Amino acid sequence: MYETTYLRAHTLDDALAWLREHEDARPLSGGMTLIPTLKQRLAAPSHLIDLTRIEAMRGIAVDGGVLRVGALTKHAEVAASPVVASAIPALAQLANVIADPQVRNRGTMGGSVANNDPAADYPSAVLALGAHVETSQRRIAADDYFIDTFETALEPGELVTGFAYPIPLRAAYAKLRQPASGYAVVGVFIAQFADAIRVAVTGAGASVFRWLDAERALAAELSEAALDSLTMDPGVLPDDDNGSSAYRAHLIQTYTRRALRTLLAQPPRDLA
Ligand SMILES: Cc1cc2nc3c(=O)[nH]c(=O)nc-3n(C[C@H](O)[C@H](O)[C@H](O)COP(=O)(O)OP(=O)(O)OC[C@H]3O[C@@H](n4cnc5c(N)ncnc54)[C@H](O)[C@@H]3O)c2cc1C
Repeated sequence: MYETTYLRAHTLDDALAWLREHEDARPLSGGMTLIPTLKQRLAAPSHLIDLTRIEAMRGIAVDGGVLRVGALTKHAEVAASPVVASAIPALAQLANVIADPQVRNRGTMGGSVANNDPAADYPSAVLALGAHVETSQRRIAADDYFIDTFETALEPGELVTGFAYPIPLRAAYAKLRQPASGYAVVGVFIAQFADAIRVAVTGAGASVFRWLDAERALAAELSEAALDSLTMDPGVLPDDDNGSSAYRAHLIQTYTRRALRTLLAQPPRDLA
């Protein structure tokens, strides 16, 4: 690990000022990705700005049909939250299958979505639910946020402060875990709203993506049969140690069906 200076922020303003002042500084949340990166000497930030004491970046609440989650909320807190379980149970279930208890008790939603690992779980929920990523300077629609592998719409020095998830009628997540890490070999999140159905796939591309063909098919007929005629082109999918592109194409089909089955087994939320 290269030498670095550790600074603990107690307010968002402190963190933003330090990030402006030190060009090579990096924000630190749970450290579950950043610290191993530093240990392997893959990054050499001049300063680490610890965000974990910033109260304004915490909290889980429902407000006018929207579930709000602070960026510093740990995966274990999302998994155990009765507010999340009541508003979007699929989000709590997703959090509970991230990694292992140690990682879930350190890693944060903000750190995960800022990092945008192509096999991370939360990006599929953010995208399928059409959430807004709230930052220190703006609100970014999920459709505009995820750009490429480890790349997002965040500007240098911009911090994720929280998330606003529209509450769906019902939603479900299904994934095949990489057996060692828990990351998604393929994960599919489906969210049904009164006027739309959205399907997001993680683990099978440079970044999370919406499977638009499946969305169109399910909007026309919300049943497993609607997926029968769909195919996923393996040519656009990754081919790596975790699975060939043909295998991933098959997994996307299979895990979309599994997520849909779980979704259909739930009564739709009564929004009246
Ligand atoms: C062994 C292991 C297994 C894992 N398995 C899974 C898995 O199954 N599924 C999964 O989804 N994830 C998995 N992860 C990742 C983990 O869930 C963390 O969410 C992830 O590492 C990032 O969250 P963090 O809070 O630790 O962020 P950090 O490591 O602190 O930061 C990650 C990156 O985001 C930046 N950052 C942090 N917070 C903010 C912010 N608020 N605004 C802007 N930038 C910020 C940092 O500068 C850094 O570049 C695993 C990690 C490990 C170590």
